[in-house]
Amino acid sequence: MLGHPFGLGLALGVLFFAGLWASGALRRPSVDRITPTASLAPAPGPAVEPSAPADLHAPGARLAPTPIPQDAPGEPRPVLSPDVGDLAFLKLRGLLLPTPAADARRLRDDFADPRAGHSHEALDILAPRGSPVLAVDDGVVKKLFTSVRGGLTVYQFDPEGTYCYYYAHLDRYAPGLHEGLTLKKGDRIGDVGITGNAPPDTPHLHFAIFKLGPEKQWWKGAALNPYPLWGPAPARAD
Ligand SMILES: [Zn+2]
Repeated sequence: MLGHPFGLGLALGVLFFAGLWASGALRRPSVDRITPTASLAPAPGPAVEPSAPADLHAPGARLAPTPIPQDAPGEPRPVLSPDVGDLAFLKLRGLLLPTPAADARRLRDDFADPRAGHSHEALDILAPRGSPVLAVDDGVVKKLFTSVRGGLTVYQFDPEGTYCYYYAHLDRYAPGLHEGLTLKKGDRIGDVGITGNAPPDTPHLHFAIFKLGPEKQWWKGAALNPYPLWGPAPARAD
């Protein structure tokens, strides 16, 4: 058969394409894979520091405050429904006050306080330096980041990737804390401190909640006021 000109041509053609295949020229380029160690590498991060205005974060679109039902049932993880507001949803989730050493009765709503060029968009919780900072919810440590204003910080996503919890001014991380770590509510993530622009004589936790956008970027989101989750209810006028 190979003696026949057509058979020889066929055989050469097969060999030619086999060679191309072996060289990879005909293969689809392989998808970039994320190696298990990728999250440990010094991530390039955004080109600019999460233009953390505030003590840190990019100011997102402010969400309208949502009234919180007073008689809400205590479902541990309710299904997010469009007719339940974000704060009501988080309230139902029973987020933990991240600083057990703090006195919740002394919390002050400083979410809208002015800061240089922006508003605070977070809650400052006074607590002794070195006292524990706990995860407010289950979820994954998305980013460990050091910034000028926030100092040592943790960005934690909630289990559904809907919200990002942000903890700043930590003096140190809890041993073993790393990006990708799955936290349970109440796990220690670090110590209350004075890193970043926290006044040295006023150790506190700067805590913020961001509703993530569709891109799920840890440095972008719409700020929600955490104060109603733990602060004293406002006095009624009547
Ligand atoms: Zn703050």
